Amino acid sequence: MTSLDARLGALRGTAPPLPHNARTLAALTTNPSCDRRSLLDAAGIDKDALAAHLGLPRPLRKSRLALDYGLAFEHKVTAQAGAPLVPLLRHALGLTPSEVSYEDINSVGSDDDRSPLALRRAHTRSRILSAAHRRSDTPRTLLDHPVLRLTVAGHQVYLEPDVIAFQRDGLFHIVEIKSFPVIHGQPDPIKANAALTQAAAYVLALRELLADDGLPPDCVSDTVILVNPRNFTRHPTATPFSAHKQIKNLSRHLGRLRRLPELLDRLPPNTTFDLAPGPDQRPTRPRDELADALATARPHYTPSCRNHCDLAFHCRTEARNQSRTAALGTAVRDDLAGIDTIATALALTDGHLHPSQDQHDITRALRHAQRVHADLRTDTA
Ligand code: SF4
Repeated sequence: MTSLDARLGALRGTAPPLPHNARTLAALTTNPSCDRRSLLDAAGIDKDALAAHLGLPRPLRKSRLALDYGLAFEHKVTAQAGAPLVPLLRHALGLTPSEVSYEDINSVGSDDDRSPLALRRAHTRSRILSAAHRRSDTPRTLLDHPVLRLTVAGHQVYLEPDVIAFQRDGLFHIVEIKSFPVIHGQPDPIKANAALTQAAAYVLALRELLADDGLPPDCVSDTVILVNPRNFTRHPTATPFSAHKQIKNLSRHLGRLRRLPELLDRLPPNTTFDLAPGPDQRPTRPRDELADALATARPHYTPSCRNHCDLAFHCRTEARNQSRTAALGTAVRDDLAGIDTIATALALTDGHLHPSQDQHDITRALRHAQRVHADLRTDTA
């Protein structure tokens, strides 16, 4: 165990680390400036368990119904050895019929529904390398449920795409099956961005696999194929999207996780987020003590945290209690760049605080807004 592992282990306490997946990696890019989450995620800490112990309402999650619908759609697309998927991909990538082969990596060398991750990963690796080096006469195209590995903060993280590794002209393409609809050729941009960011994790993992064998990163295309229901039907459609921006973003944020020793150095000695479970596995740690420990890691709260982080309600209360401008939304925080608290903004506005050199413009804007507000109040009185 490295000293970094030991330090992260001390933050986590006795609980086993939570594995990353493409979704949690994608969430890293939505608030990259948050040291608190970077540390919690790098240590594999269960943020949902922390939130539950703090007695917080949980952010919105996908309903069971939505999850089941997603699974049913994926099964429909990959049924009969990928038969429904093949023509869609032929069309999206312009393939000829002879260029298609399908292999299920779910179960390798056993009758189990799912073989162990390490075995599936070894199988995936051998299939992809044989395709990349053109050692096989059969063109390697669809690999159903392959397993890839990505280095995150010095750790090996297993990733399980639905169906990926589509090779054409020596290029691999990632294929993501998602159950949100494409309506008149357009998916919901927020959902599409999230899907492409997940796909970016697979692109990076596939590039890491190939790089370990001396192959260049451009063997894996930046173009990702999203397979979604068309309009309001259950019929699938495949659309190519460039994931270049998402790959760059994710790559940068993963690089940022390499700064972990620096983030750890900023914590007071003996900081831990351990819930200290008792014999019945229920947390025994006083809530205030846990909240104090969380306060040692710098947050970067924005209202959108609610969409991607279990601690959103804790961080929102904290931001409000500290009257931080971030609690009012990203637009306000950006407009007031450099003024972190509402108290400072008010003091600058009413002249209790003299603006520094770089606060002159924003102070003038705040005073103008105050005058407009006062005029409106007079008009409506
Ligand atoms: S909710 Fe808190 S810990 Fe999570 S990303 Fe936002 S600020 Fe960071």
